[in-house]
Amino acid sequence: MRELVQRFPARLFLERATCLNADFELHTVLCQDGNGRSREVAYCLARQGLPDLLIFMVASLVQSVPDIKLQVKVVTVGADAMGFEAVEEVLPCAKLQICRLQVLEALYRKACDLFLPKEGQIHNLLLNMSNANSPRVYSQYLNCLEDVAPLPFLQYFLECWHPHRSLWVECWAFEKNQECSFLDHFSAHRRKLLTVLTPPMALPACVQGLLDLQTLPVETAMLNVAPVTQLYHTTCLPDSSDLLAEELDLVPQVHYKLKDTSDGYLLEGSNCSFLVSQDLATCSCSIYGAHQLPCRHIFAARLWMGEPLFDPNLLPSSQGVLHDDAEGQGEG
Ligand SMILES: [Zn+2]
Repeated sequence: MRELVQRFPARLFLERATCLNADFELHTVLCQDGNGRSREVAYCLARQGLPDLLIFMVASLVQSVPDIKLQVKVVTVGADAMGFEAVEEVLPCAKLQICRLQVLEALYRKACDLFLPKEGQIHNLLLNMSNANSPRVYSQYLNCLEDVAPLPFLQYFLECWHPHRSLWVECWAFEKNQECSFLDHFSAHRRKLLTVLTPPMALPACVQGLLDLQTLPVETAMLNVAPVTQLYHTTCLPDSSDLLAEELDLVPQVHYKLKDTSDGYLLEGSNCSFLVSQDLATCSCSIYGAHQLPCRHIFAARLWMGEPLFDPNLLPSSQGVLHDDAEGQGEG
């Protein structure tokens, strides 16, 4: 987990992932790897409702992996996080943002609880505020909200969300046209958790479950190979892309133990083991030996390390790359 966050520190995602029992809850920090997948980099088991948890988690992470202090660019947190101000002191280069859809959900819930009249109109105003592409547009919609919303809702908004507008409104918080994958990442993470956690459970069992998640088969089982197959399909000649598709299809089923050795990544199966080179480009197996094309072992090791599964540099020119390589095309 430490190595992952060292390799992919730019975007971190942090939220309460689940309740473990009546007293404790699990908070998770995720990073986004070279395949755009969410990967767990830190867990925090905490008593429910502890204040200052956000800063405690961020500070602990930086304490265990000091290299990332100046490398984290964006931290996205869930809408129930608190104590935002201190984060930027610990991660001075990071932009903090709150998942916008969760802010809207919290506001809609409040509107529903208060039985607001003109609820639809208020929803639209809130949505437009969150999508405001300039401070002026935000102020205009805020004026409209002040005209339409009853006082209790307005008070809630002005106390809880208006002061933090720089963390959730488009023009301050988000890069233009940049998808925020916070919700996707946490739903993938929760799917993984479901395989090992069955709340309510005691803390030792929970810790063991979390450790059990950090294995190669858990990662490979969650892999959707179709987009990668498609990319190779558009890049390679048919013979190569068929072979690559076969190897990719086998990745979700591989059940190797992965060991990081000084010679490379050792994938140990029940009957045989294979060595993938340190640069994740070659393998000791016969498939790689015969074709010099990435095999299931190379894909599995790259998946674990977070390196892109699709990489044209893995293809030998003699296998006929369809573009950017005239020589290869001729030979192919
Ligand atoms: Zn291999």
